[in-house]
Amino acid sequence: MSTEAVEGVDRRRALASIAKQIALCRECALARGATNPVPGEGSAEAEIVFIGEGPGFYEDQQGRPFVGASGKFLDELLRSIGLDRRKVFITNIVKHRPPNNRDPLPEEISACRRFLDEQLAAIQPKVIVTLGRHSLQRYFPGESIGRIHGQPRRKDGFIVVPMYHPAAALHQQSLRRVIEADFQKLPSLLARALGGEASAAEAPPVAPRPAAAPAPAPVAAAPAADPEAQQMRLL
Ligand code: URA
Repeated sequence: MSTEAVEGVDRRRALASIAKQIALCRECALARGATNPVPGEGSAEAEIVFIGEGPGFYEDQQGRPFVGASGKFLDELLRSIGLDRRKVFITNIVKHRPPNNRDPLPEEISACRRFLDEQLAAIQPKVIVTLGRHSLQRYFPGESIGRIHGQPRRKDGFIVVPMYHPAAALHQQSLRRVIEADFQKLPSLLARALGGEASAAEAPPVAPRPAAAPAPAPVAAAPAADPEAQQMRLL
């Protein structure tokens, strides 16, 4: 078995073990009111991780993240850049449903924090996309989504891209177009990250590459005529 395959197995084992710990966790009151834990799902070798807020009704019923209306929109957004949820990892700031879909409380977020830290340490993605305010606050406390959405920044060794929550975009047509446009930035950002630029130390905001700029070498090797295939090669 290749080193990469072994690593993949290790990462999957690590994620499975974290999911078991989440199922047993009683550090906050959320588990008591929940039907199922929702640890997250997707590829253990994902280059990109999406972090939402917390499970809603359908997620709680199924034990899977983003399976309701906002999940359908998220799937659409992923398809628009040639991806599907099996190629990325999708999770939330809190892993049990807050009652009546209320905002997670600060103590619930901090009780759950280590699970997300451990998931990210296992997966080691290049890019993290925060969906909505709560995951934004984890990386950029005090920042407003309206000001920094779609702007990649280096943080904690990752490239973090804040985005509006898909649910917000479902309720407000103008935000739908904003989140769609922000998603379109992900493939080239990921290509740059995989091209080595992600190894730079903590730095100020990464300016988005202008559309006309030449692609970095690894991307140039991908079949230029098929952007979808090109994006899939990146993950
Ligand atoms: N909203 C979230 O933030 N997460 C989910 O899993 C579903 C809806």
